[in-house]
Amino acid sequence: MKKPSNIILCLILASGLPLFARPSTKIIKSYSISQNFGTETRELSRSTVVRYNSKNQLIDSTLYIHNIPLSKKYGYIDFKDRQSLQKIEGLERLMHFKYEYNLGDQLVSKQLYGSSDDSLRWKEFYKYYSNGNLWKIVRFDPSKVNMSNKLSGLSSDNKNMPWGESFEYNGDGRIEEHKEFYAGFILNLVYNPSGPQLPPSQKELEDTYRRELKERYGIFFSNLFVLANMPINRYENYLKIIGKLEEYNKLLKDNHNPGNINSVMCRSTLSVDWKGYLYDCDFNQQLGMKRNGDIKHLNDLLTPLVSLRNNPISIGNHCFGCTAGAGSSCGGELS
Ligand code: SF4
Repeated sequence: MKKPSNIILCLILASGLPLFARPSTKIIKSYSISQNFGTETRELSRSTVVRYNSKNQLIDSTLYIHNIPLSKKYGYIDFKDRQSLQKIEGLERLMHFKYEYNLGDQLVSKQLYGSSDDSLRWKEFYKYYSNGNLWKIVRFDPSKVNMSNKLSGLSSDNKNMPWGESFEYNGDGRIEEHKEFYAGFILNLVYNPSGPQLPPSQKELEDTYRRELKERYGIFFSNLFVLANMPINRYENYLKIIGKLEEYNKLLKDNHNPGNINSVMCRSTLSVDWKGYLYDCDFNQQLGMKRNGDIKHLNDLLTPLVSLRNNPISIGNHCFGCTAGAGSSCGGELS
């Protein structure tokens, strides 16, 4: 039994496509193989048509499935009736990718369609730094967003939000940071030591978590913040119970780093309780340490010409938890 000619099949499949740009075309075919009457028969089941433009850039790729009716199939397989090869009934488009480029030949979007050109299922946009390095990829399902306002009109609930990736490079042009983001939201992880120690290096830990979470679970995240445990309230009681409170307080004090004083969060943020009283930070709030100076309540901020500038900050021994080592705040390390 003769095998179908691959060359003829290529021509037939290609002829079903518009040839407006005279692209070069590659066909990738897959066959199911069976033994029939002691002779090997081959049946084409799938084919992928990939087209390139004159610059050898991918224009589109289309996956077809070949559901050839039984009556046609035997003519197709035994190749006696060459005419049956011309019949493309049973040829169904499964999915179609389309690629767009800017004038600088950079890929700017990739689109996924279903069985027809009006079934856009997925789109992703590519943005670049001025040196040509990839900066961001933004993806979304167009059916769930306002297409007339592609990005700013996006809803941010879990089903509809787009997601994307961003890239940062070091001086050698190698990717230094690869983050995932969600419609303006970012995914930050927080780490604090399980025991009475200073936290490890934020950068080293972030690199390790980034690598391990990506390799093991395919999870990307934006930042990892390393926080010191503050020896107050519940953690203070825990340290007392295990007999480590004194040791931990000494560790924090011995590692006090004056370089962190300018960056501690009480210099730029305030905490407010449900009654409107102000605190220099949430730790002070937990300890019930009121603010020094005249501004103690939200109402006090309504006084004309009132200013928080140069107001004294209420401090205590727990503040070494912010200044020890590389420093600690709700945004992670300070130095
Ligand atoms: S604990 Fe002390 S140093 Fe840290 S934010 Fe609060 S007041 Fe500032």
